[in-house]
Amino acid sequence: MVAKKVGPEPDDKSWRECTECQRPAPPRSWHCKICKVCILKRDHHCIYTGCCIGLKNHRFFMGFIFYLFVGSVYALVYNSIYMWIIQGHIYSNWLTLLKLACPMLLLVTGGFWSNMYLLFYSLNVLALAYGVLLLGYHVPIVLRGGVSADRTQESKRRYDKGVRQNLRSVFGDRMHIAWLSPLIRSDLPDDGYHWSPSSSHEKTESD
Ligand SMILES: [Zn+2]
Ligand SMILES: [Zn+2]
Repeated sequence: MVAKKVGPEPDDKSWRECTECQRPAPPRSWHCKICKVCILKRDHHCIYTGCCIGLKNHRFFMGFIFYLFVGSVYALVYNSIYMWIIQGHIYSNWLTLLKLACPMLLLVTGGFWSNMYLLFYSLNVLALAYGVLLLGYHVPIVLRGGVSADRTQESKRRYDKGVRQNLRSVFGDRMHIAWLSPLIRSDLPDDGYHWSPSSSHEKTESD
């Protein structure tokens, strides 16, 4: 993750000097003010895992949000069966909808346990909504071979080498099974220090 020891080739102009680390930093690396170090292929600093998402852990972050989505769908199905079918005589009414829309009502109406279930149900819906939001934001970025930090249209497509290759650069050589478990080893094709722009990008540059 950390840009150390490896330096630029003498004729390599793609490296820059990180003013914070006071050493050369490779392309696509970025200095994180919280981690206090340059991160290779930095995507963003994740407040949930408390670390930067970059070259080596991008795959695990994507797994984290994918399984957040899968887990909350799974929980919502079972919670919905319990609330609306098995305990339908308690929850299938307008007051429940009102409580879900305005959770403050949970403090003033109904029994403790029925309200507790409603609270967990609301959290479940929120977790699912958040999972969808995160996937909707991060999946297109991975598919186009970029990182969240890309701001311009030019930088967003700079390393786009086609969906298959872009997925491989995040999930590694064994990308077909790597998403199943973080314990499956899957080597990345890039070392994080040497990057070449996509061929279409090189073409536009030379035009
Ligand atoms: Zn730095
Ligand atoms: Zn960081």
